[in-house]
Amino acid sequence: MSVYLPQELRRQLEEADDHCCAYCQTSQANSGQRMVPDHIIPESKEGQTIFENLCFSCRACNEFKGSRTLGLDPLTGETVLLFNPRKQSWFDHFTWEDSGIRIIGLTAVGRATVVALQMNHEVIVPARRKWVAVGWHPPGQEREL
Ligand SMILES: [Zn+2]
Repeated sequence: MSVYLPQELRRQLEEADDHCCAYCQTSQANSGQRMVPDHIIPESKEGQTIFENLCFSCRACNEFKGSRTLGLDPLTGETVLLFNPRKQSWFDHFTWEDSGIRIIGLTAVGRATVVALQMNHEVIVPARRKWVAVGWHPPGQEREL
């Protein structure tokens, strides 16, 4: 979805998310695709267009997420809130397998989000394999919340 963002809000998001998808960590430079603003709580569920409810997302994560806020933990069958990049730290909920090729959920939130957003879909995994081989991925550093 295309969302109008005031310039200052866009700049704030770019700084917070470092031109990477806040969910799968794909960088804009690797993908060659502009990140899109994602409403963490969707507008259809009264989510506001404010910094605390926005993150940058790749198109794949944005589309798979759609208007969802909940996901199913495949380990326990529990329904949980999806990962919130503004309130939660990526490294608390996810880790990389095979040096950055696959994302593994460490918590119920992480596991449910990996499944809901299809964070290891069949197109991204071979791309990550190439990025890892040349040292372009994963981004690695923890970001400030
Ligand atoms: Zn993504």
